[in-house]
Amino acid sequence: MSSVAIVWFRRDLRLADNPALDHARNHHDRVVGVYIHDVAAEGRWTAGAASRWWLHHSLRSLSSDLSKRGGRLLIYSGDTRRRLGRLIDDTGARGLYFNRLYEPDLVRQDRKICSWLENRERIEVRSFRAGLLFEPWELTRDNDHPYRVFTPFWNRMQKQWRPVTACPQPRALSVPDKLPEDHGLDRLDLLPEIPWDEGLADTWTPGEKGARRRLERFADQGVGDYARVRDIPGRDGTSCLSPHLHFGEVSPGQVCLALDASGSLPGGRGALAHVRELAWREFSASLLFHFPDTPDKPLNERFASFPWRSGYSRDLAAWKQGLTGIPMVDAGMRQLWHTGWMHNRVRMLVASFLTKNLLIPWQEGARWFWDTLVDADLANNTQGWQWTAGCGADAAPYFRIFNPATQGERFDGQGEYIRRWIPELAGLQEKAIHAPWTARPEVLDQAGIVLGRDYPKPLVDLKASRSRALEAWERIRHAD
Ligand SMILES: Cc1cc2nc3c(=O)[nH]c(=O)nc-3n(C[C@H](O)[C@H](O)[C@H](O)COP(=O)(O)OP(=O)(O)OC[C@H]3O[C@@H](n4cnc5c(N)ncnc54)[C@H](O)[C@@H]3O)c2cc1C
Repeated sequence: MSSVAIVWFRRDLRLADNPALDHARNHHDRVVGVYIHDVAAEGRWTAGAASRWWLHHSLRSLSSDLSKRGGRLLIYSGDTRRRLGRLIDDTGARGLYFNRLYEPDLVRQDRKICSWLENRERIEVRSFRAGLLFEPWELTRDNDHPYRVFTPFWNRMQKQWRPVTACPQPRALSVPDKLPEDHGLDRLDLLPEIPWDEGLADTWTPGEKGARRRLERFADQGVGDYARVRDIPGRDGTSCLSPHLHFGEVSPGQVCLALDASGSLPGGRGALAHVRELAWREFSASLLFHFPDTPDKPLNERFASFPWRSGYSRDLAAWKQGLTGIPMVDAGMRQLWHTGWMHNRVRMLVASFLTKNLLIPWQEGARWFWDTLVDADLANNTQGWQWTAGCGADAAPYFRIFNPATQGERFDGQGEYIRRWIPELAGLQEKAIHAPWTARPEVLDQAGIVLGRDYPKPLVDLKASRSRALEAWERIRHAD
């Protein structure tokens, strides 16, 4: 009997290792894909500008990949339930399949959709795990409470590791003879009106093919040295897979299989270090799932009364523009603006500078990242900001405040990263480039730099602002 299935694509924009698609084509002879851009369903966290840019190109790529195999992606904007209901009626579908997402608003939406469809006859509704190695509720402490510290979480993950497998990508698909009209990609209006996206286009290839190429390159050339160079922002030492993972153009399982084709926990030093980073991703997803208020509220409730500064709009603007006068911070913020991505170590430095040296609430930084990162991810971003601000899970002791100048000397010793993103400082020697305000006048002269004219003087004194942060911490430290 000929039967139709709908595959509801969300952030699983790939054909390979896509369990919802695999199930649909194994159990039905006609399959139609649908993407619904439902801004209301995302609550307060609708995609930012850089994510929208990525989504546009990723959907175009998926749509073309499906068409090449005889399939089809229908694209709509509007209310998910209404669109799905209509599509089920129009196609007479007998199956609706999707891969699970774990953000609080989306979990709520999915529950509603499933219970609404339970009452409809003759349609099977199933969801699958596709974006994580473990469900957020699978790795818990012995008392079933979620982990709040990473190392035991990671130990549990290694202990519970099960061989990773991936489902094949379809070679050919058949669609129903008659399909309803869709809105099409352009109606979603995802691209910016003012063309600021040139740097993004030069840096990235959104879509499954781009993801595969990045993964292959990393598995062939990057992973061997990963443990040694992953902290050096001037080197291409990490995988740069984060936006591809976020949009589901590649699955974490596929990453593990590229590192060890047997599906076992990879054993090499670089490969294991990389899976450990994927474990941070799993940890973040678990935290968001179990503590759904954390995108706005500190996990450590003591921080609810933290004495943040007020009247900080000028400093916040300088931070966003990469004009704080602190080279490592400015280099990171300019890399972000230009490419939609920033190296992890530098993310920690710019976040620490904002929340501790400038005493600006972490939520302001998280919002800016949300709008400008191509890998903006509610779980990872929330965790990264809360961790750095000292109020999140497994946060470092508050008094360990990064000094961006000494961090620069340590991780960008030759100043390569700074020269790349702050050309106006390129003429400075290594010793001066991380703290130009300490350089002798003749050193600045030789490089042709006048501080305050060619490059800003520092917004704050690093030592004094560190002390101010510690005083602020003292005020909440003993609060219940
Ligand atoms: C303040 C702050 C905000 C952040 N915001 C985001 C965000 O919005 N989206 C995002 O994907 N990551 C975020 N991170 C985590 C991390 O910086 C990026 O995942 C990483 O830099 C991506 O580069 P990569 O793909 O080359 O990483 P690799 O080093 O190659 O790591 C492989 C993958 O592991 C995951 N991963 C690595 N580090 C972390 C981490 N610390 N936490 C969670 N997952 C991790 C990512 O999916 C990454 O692609 C943030 C970190 C901080 C400190």
